[in-house]
Amino acid sequence: IEQNPGEAEFHQALREVMESIRVVVEENEEEYKKNALLERLANPERQIKFRVPWVDDNGQVQVNTGYRVQFNSAIGPYKGGLRFHSSVNIGIIKFLGFEQIFKNSLTGLPIGGGKGGSNFDPKGKSDREVMAFCQSFMTELYRHIGADTDVPAGDIGVGAREVGFLFGQYKRLSNLYEGVLTGKGLTFGGSLTRTEATGYGLLYFTNAMLKANDIDIAGKTIAVSGAGNVAIYAIEKAQQLGGKPVTCSDSTGWIYDSEGIDVELLKEIKEVKRERLTAYAKARESAEYHEGKGVWTVKCDIALPCATQNELQLEDAKSLVENGVLAVAEGANMPTTIEATEYLQENDVLFAPGKASNAGGVATSALEMAQNSQRLSWTFEEVDAKLQNIMENIFANAAAAAEEYGLDKNYVAGANIAGFKKVVEAMNAQGIV
Ligand code: NDP
Repeated sequence: IEQNPGEAEFHQALREVMESIRVVVEENEEEYKKNALLERLANPERQIKFRVPWVDDNGQVQVNTGYRVQFNSAIGPYKGGLRFHSSVNIGIIKFLGFEQIFKNSLTGLPIGGGKGGSNFDPKGKSDREVMAFCQSFMTELYRHIGADTDVPAGDIGVGAREVGFLFGQYKRLSNLYEGVLTGKGLTFGGSLTRTEATGYGLLYFTNAMLKANDIDIAGKTIAVSGAGNVAIYAIEKAQQLGGKPVTCSDSTGWIYDSEGIDVELLKEIKEVKRERLTAYAKARESAEYHEGKGVWTVKCDIALPCATQNELQLEDAKSLVENGVLAVAEGANMPTTIEATEYLQENDVLFAPGKASNAGGVATSALEMAQNSQRLSWTFEEVDAKLQNIMENIFANAAAAAEEYGLDKNYVAGANIAGFKKVVEAMNAQGIV
């Protein structure tokens, strides 16, 4: 922490993981100390920071900062998304990259951990401006990545449009047609189910957790935050399973829809028209629009934070508990603060940590890599069935690891321990690197 001041989110993620693997560390203290295992784990293998100049529609040159943190390649090529958002800095990319190591390990697939992005915000930019930015970003990044080295994907602000522009520029510069990015369009190597994967996966995990605790998801009221890729498909799958999602949000306001969210309307507004949620409220009589934060004040049985880090804080946790919430499952990365997580757990709320419950996105990305290597495309049903199986296994492994260490139902600790053990074993076997 002293060596990397000012990286608040990274320190938060580090603290959370280190705290919950304490039981494993104590068992192996001497060996870990001698091999500086935790120090190596907390230091990225490589960190790349670069200038991204581009020209806006007024002919003005703009300059953003690009990042790629190649955190850990013990179990496979670096894998993790790119985030384009004005809040991006090195601390955020490192927190996401660090979490990614354990998440990817939990999937059971051969992928290491990495993350990247830029403080560029695609919101309100023309397609030409987004393309100019993506081409400039890739002009530096392409020399550091590759299908067997590092395979980026989308994240906040990086969807199918951005991945397409990035892939086009990579191909042009490298003269290689390879699976160097995931989340690609279906006409150029993308996988069916990838768009739905994180949201669907979140619900497969949540459903497994609820079932293990004798709770039926059918008929339950669900509060969801966010209105992006994860939130939309979490809402869709929750409805398919018989639940009733009644909220969604963006960074300016939130929707309460007493009839349940109309997911087709939400898709049209967010994915096609790229409009704000005010447009949803205008188009639907049963919906109310509220400025600012407030999703967690709604009475619900299940809460699914699917927007961004630290969006569910202690006062939100208190309000959820007061309203009788049964389970909180993270669709976003680290959306719940440490204090809020502890408060929920102390009040017997089932809690699914993002690195386990949102792993469906990266798991399906790894399936996209497998299809690209085979030069084949699997059907939607095939990928969806594999996704469901992976999520149920992640739940079973996290639950078993928690139980093994006497931390029954503490899925945060279980996920961290299960993810950590595999990475550490692989690191040890590969010597001091
Ligand atoms: P999108 O860009 O598609 O959507 C993000 C949503 O969250 C938007 O509604 C956005 O609102 C809102 N949001 C973003 N930043 C903030 C903020 N600072 N305050 C309030 N609301 C905010 O991103 P995704 O849905 O892909 O990602 C959401 C979360 O899920 C992130 O934490 C991401 O890391 C995580 N995740 C995503 C995966 C994926 O496959 N996409 C995989 C695993 C995790 P607005 O439009 O107003 O900015």
